[in-house]
Amino acid sequence: MSAPEHRSGLVALAGRPNVGKSTLVNRLVGEHVAAVSARPQTTRRRAIGVVHRPGLQLVLVDLPGFQKPFDRLTERMQRSVNETLADADATLLLLDARTPIGPGDRYIAARVLAAGAPPCVVAVNKTDHLGADRIVPALAEAAALGNPHAVHPISALAGDGVDALLADLLALLPEGPAWFPPGMTTDQPLEQRVAELVRERALELTRDEVPHAVAVLVEPIRPGRGRTLVEARLICETESQKAILIGRHGAMVKRIGSEARPAVEQAVGAPVFLELSVKVRPRWRRDAAELDRLGV
Ligand code: GDP
Ligand code: MG
Repeated sequence: MSAPEHRSGLVALAGRPNVGKSTLVNRLVGEHVAAVSARPQTTRRRAIGVVHRPGLQLVLVDLPGFQKPFDRLTERMQRSVNETLADADATLLLLDARTPIGPGDRYIAARVLAAGAPPCVVAVNKTDHLGADRIVPALAEAAALGNPHAVHPISALAGDGVDALLADLLALLPEGPAWFPPGMTTDQPLEQRVAELVRERALELTRDEVPHAVAVLVEPIRPGRGRTLVEARLICETESQKAILIGRHGAMVKRIGSEARPAVEQAVGAPVFLELSVKVRPRWRRDAAELDRLGV
């Protein structure tokens, strides 16, 4: 008798900042993606979330950076996008039903819906408390972006439509082994996830003033007296960016810290002492060795 069939595969998650990717990953995985120590060697990509179902394993990976290639960081990201698309069994493009489709969405859509790319499932998110008069046109616009495998209206926050979306994605997985042990829901190091949370807050709060020029480096997280110590360094390219990140009398960096802390504590699983500092490293984006150190 042959072994029962097992299916597994990589789904690359694409979408502009703020469309709800992290919310959806946590919803699909079924928990706030937890810290783990073991790392499988079977896939080159970092799994941002692993969805376990009987006989099925869906590994969500990030489709990184969509900028025009104007420096080595973005060149590297472009390469990484191509490699990720080559590895993926499917892509999941997330759009926001509450904001019109913009150039950012179109640029991403052109890549994931290009001829030869893996099947793309589009999810139109944030449909909660929206009337059909807004949802229906948003779905039509999404379908018109290219030739998606399917388009789903969802609310990652409320969970609406997520089961149907997941069923569609699971159906696209090829036969393959379980890559991760049961219960392992991510293989991203905790420091990297914390760095991402801090960076998200920094970019959100400084908006277009400090575009993409910020990296966050988190020192190894260690227990302190009463609280876990998390030291994060925000690295930017110019003194003027540094001034924006620090803010008047340190108000901005303080705000980044206090807004990031709840999510950081959830990721770490303990109360933290979050210490932020801001450093200028001119041209860090052009320095490949530095990029490797930062894990970009
Ligand atoms: P990401 O940048 O794509 O990872 O987006 P996030 O998951 O961080 O979400 C960005 C914001 O959108 C957060 O404030 C979320 O709470 C919110 N959000 C995500 N999904 C939904 C949704 O389905 N409905 C609503 N109303 N808000 C959502
Ligand atoms: Mg996110």
